[in-house]
Formats: sequence, C-alpha cells, structure tokens
Amino acid sequence: MSEWTLGQVKAMNLQLEASCRAEGGCSRFYVFDLDRLIESVGADYALSDIPPMTCEECGRPLKIELASVPPNQEKSQENEQDRKPE
Ligand SMILES: [Zn+2]
Repeated sequence: MSEWTLGQVKAMNLQLEASCRAEGGCSRFYVFDLDRLIESVGADYALSDIPPMTCEECGRPLKIELASVPPNQEKSQENEQDRKPE
C-alpha cells in the first residue's frame, strides 16, 4: 500500500483501518474517518506518510491496513463491550 493516497483509498471505496496486532497487544481495532482525514491533510496525502501510531489502550504499535467495505454496511465501530480489565 506504499504509494496509495487518501484520495485513492476513498475512490476505491476502501476503508483505512488500524489494528493492535502486536504480540501481547489488546487486539483493539480502529477505523479512520477518511473524510475527516482528507479534510485535514488533503487527498494527496500518502499512506506511507502516516506516522507510526500506537494503541490508545496498550501503547503497542498499530498496524495500518486497507479493507474493503461492503456496500450498505453501516455497523457501529464503537463497540466498547469487549473491553476487559487486566
Ligand atoms: Zn492495544
């Protein structure tokens, strides 16, 4: 995904996600708000320019990836129910 830009991601109807997949991580899953991102950094912003991010929950590095969004899928990404106290 090195040369992809935010505009291309949106044009392809893809979703930009980050997941906490590091060993021992909390497996938390984040979905970026593409429209808001484009508004703030521009559609020409390359995905490879996204700075390394860490998980808000456990502080481990997040893995950024693209995913396709099935049409008409309107599921809530704000599911906090599986958060467990350590
Ligand atoms: Zn985490």
